[in-house]
Amino acid sequence: MSPVEVSVVIPVYNEEDGLQALFDRLYPALDGLGDSYEVIFINDGSADRSAAMLAAQFHKRPDVTRVVLFNGNFGQHMAILAGFEHTRGKIVITLDADLQNPPEEIPRLVQTMREGHDYVGTIRRQRNDTAFRRYASRAMNGLREKITRIRMTDQGCMLRAYDRNVVDTINACREVNTFIPALAYTFASSPVEIEVGHEQRHAGESKYSLYQLIRLNFDLVTGFSIVPLQWFSAIGTVLSLLSGVLFVVLLIRRFLFGSEVQGVFTLFAMNFFLIGILLFGLGLLGEYVGRIYQEVRDRPRYRIKAVLEADPVRQRTEA
Ligand code: UDP
Ligand code: MG
Repeated sequence: MSPVEVSVVIPVYNEEDGLQALFDRLYPALDGLGDSYEVIFINDGSADRSAAMLAAQFHKRPDVTRVVLFNGNFGQHMAILAGFEHTRGKIVITLDADLQNPPEEIPRLVQTMREGHDYVGTIRRQRNDTAFRRYASRAMNGLREKITRIRMTDQGCMLRAYDRNVVDTINACREVNTFIPALAYTFASSPVEIEVGHEQRHAGESKYSLYQLIRLNFDLVTGFSIVPLQWFSAIGTVLSLLSGVLFVVLLIRRFLFGSEVQGVFTLFAMNFFLIGILLFGLGLLGEYVGRIYQEVRDRPRYRIKAVLEADPVRQRTEA
């Protein structure tokens, strides 16, 4: 098993329209690097011709290509994790298959890593997404950064570089719900961010709906921090103190003015407000309980159907 300098990990889910263009730009960019490299594609249970196209590409460049075939759709991050397990490069780079991250930026990432960093994040120079999505993701980002203390200017961009040690540490993690760049950030000792270009999706549609994006942010917050729970108990404490004061005030008024029956609607408003907070807290608690449930079930995170590689050193079926 000869180590290589650079491993590129690319998750693929129903990308038949864009894959050929990706091959046409990725391989020349890597050939020009002047280092040994390998490309690991993970087919995340695509229903189109993606798997066949990846197999064809493997037969064209078996020296530098490996293909991990999932037998179902387990999500982008599971695909990257499976890819990580099959890398051997000193530097590991992740990339989207849709060409939104230009492969021509890879040499710059490699160079930045060699300047002594063990994690290189990226910021899209000018995002070719809709204004609404840009705004929404900035707002969510700010809140997330406050809560998790993970500094990531642009969490949506998957073109990133990781040091072998960071990848090995990630490989040792067994969590079911995760967000790889955030996980890497927590393990990196010298993280850095650089600006990269960003293009419109080459072909096909985004695989993420708005709901899934919100979900992802929620996962990020609850997966990397228990600050929401702490905030919630703080809110609870403040509210019970306030109710205590209110109780005393009302008691005094009862003795001074006798029974007062006005303010029924105020009572309603306060009740709804408090019940709202209560339900929110219950939901929040549920998020954490759900995570614990998923973890204790301890099911395999994904299943690999086959691995196409020239030297089948490690055949894994599960991680
Ligand atoms: N992807 C995947 N599994 C999924 C969804 C997406 O492997 O269930 C891959 C997809 O093929 C692409 C990358 O993850 O290479 C990012 O997906 P997409 O471009 O749809 O996300 P967006 O850029 O809209 O955030
Ligand atoms: Mg994309």
